[in-house]
Amino acid sequence: MASFDVIIIGAGIAGASFALKISKYAKTLLLEVKDEKDLAVTTNIFPEHNKPFLSEVDYSDRSLFPCIHYKINYMDQKYNGVIDSNKFGEPFGYISHSENIIKYMLRKCEEQGGIIKYNERTSKIIRSSNKIEVITSKGQSYSGKLLAIATGSHSFELQKSLGFSAPDSYIGISTHLYGDDDMLNENMEWNYIFHINPKISQNGPLFFNKGRGRLFLGCLGNPKEDSSEMANKLDRILNNYQPIQPIIKGLKRGSKTFVGKISKHPIKSLSNDRTLILGEAGGIVTAFFYEGFLGGLASAELATKTIRPLLDTNSNFNKSDLYPYDQEIKKVLLNKYFKTNLASEYLFYNAGSKIKLLWETYCKLVKENRTLQRYIWEAIRRQDLENHDLERDKWAGQELFKMLPLLSKATYWPHFLKAMIK
Ligand SMILES: Cc1cc2nc3c(=O)[nH]c(=O)nc-3n(C[C@H](O)[C@H](O)[C@H](O)COP(=O)(O)OP(=O)(O)OC[C@H]3O[C@@H](n4cnc5c(N)ncnc54)[C@H](O)[C@@H]3O)c2cc1C
Repeated sequence: MASFDVIIIGAGIAGASFALKISKYAKTLLLEVKDEKDLAVTTNIFPEHNKPFLSEVDYSDRSLFPCIHYKINYMDQKYNGVIDSNKFGEPFGYISHSENIIKYMLRKCEEQGGIIKYNERTSKIIRSSNKIEVITSKGQSYSGKLLAIATGSHSFELQKSLGFSAPDSYIGISTHLYGDDDMLNENMEWNYIFHINPKISQNGPLFFNKGRGRLFLGCLGNPKEDSSEMANKLDRILNNYQPIQPIIKGLKRGSKTFVGKISKHPIKSLSNDRTLILGEAGGIVTAFFYEGFLGGLASAELATKTIRPLLDTNSNFNKSDLYPYDQEIKKVLLNKYFKTNLASEYLFYNAGSKIKLLWETYCKLVKENRTLQRYIWEAIRRQDLENHDLERDKWAGQELFKMLPLLSKATYWPHFLKAMIK
């Protein structure tokens, strides 16, 4: 049986970035169920605050980051809550063609001696005191000192078999529309649209991410609708939803539509004897915006920081050795930045019939309030998210409340109060 220091399951952003980082120091194996050519093609928002967790790529490489992210539209049917980063001097970050980033990271891992095996589904894990054994559906087995589960929302049974829990899951659907850049820019002056309409979803946005030659769009956070219901819904939105018709005009729909789970609300424990959970598998996705790259990249970086010294001392990688990983995730992500997302999730997605008015008022506030625009810009660029300023979020909540029509205030204030203590 081939043996390794570290075995990683899953070649998404979390697994691939961990493979890139840890293969510098450890004999590494990465197992991925898909074929290399079938890895997901996505166009994503890649905010500046992701950067501290991925220093190994060249941010001026336009095959990885084809567009600079300058303009956001928090869009309502009445108001465009636009934030133009040019007003504040620096952009929000990048739009990534993420399949190229993942392929780049996997290639680097191989150059550093790591081994990647595609078309290998991990079907069973056996943990003992001195090693961890991974068995694939091809009947292969591999042993390692440490296992990192980075399987997104696709294989919760694996982590459950080792005593971990699974995060809360919702459904998302996405597709690409294609057109030349002139047409894309003419249709949509913003790089990113985040739009809430409770008829589309009460748990997440309809989003548009503008890449080079392609527009990635979809809706996230739906209840447990099945694939065909979701596909019909997306068709109806694309064909009939008036506010977006100018944005998609003349663009050609790609042949692939993805329907799948998106999970959030981090699980309580991300480490145990000889095992770590990385990225979306651990629910490390922000509750309001559904940012998963941040969680994937941060968990890979913080796992590397935890493991490096343990490799040098020939550790047993027991629970207490690995616990600093949990502590770091809490300190860097969960205590502040994820907390503010939980408050926004409560305020908007738990607002029931109030969601429409709240979102409309919020978009108006963003449109009109330059201080709020600056605060959002700073949060998206912030390199030390552990110092995210929760007082600013409270202030934003108060400003939103002030803007509500007088009659609504009386019924909305308990909801605001609850959101504030989230
Ligand atoms: C439509 C949509 C748009 C999004 N847009 C953004 C965005 O713009 N910015 C952002 O930050 N986040 C975004 N997110 C969230 C983000 O994409 C995800 O949270 C993130 O990519 C998850 O990364 P991951 O590596 O944890 O998991 P995944 O990307 O799901 O990767 C898991 C990998 O593990 C493999 N795997 C699973 N089970 C097994 C097994 N048993 N054996 C072997 N391999 C296995 C899978 O094939 C897959 O390749 C979006 C999500 C969706 C659904």
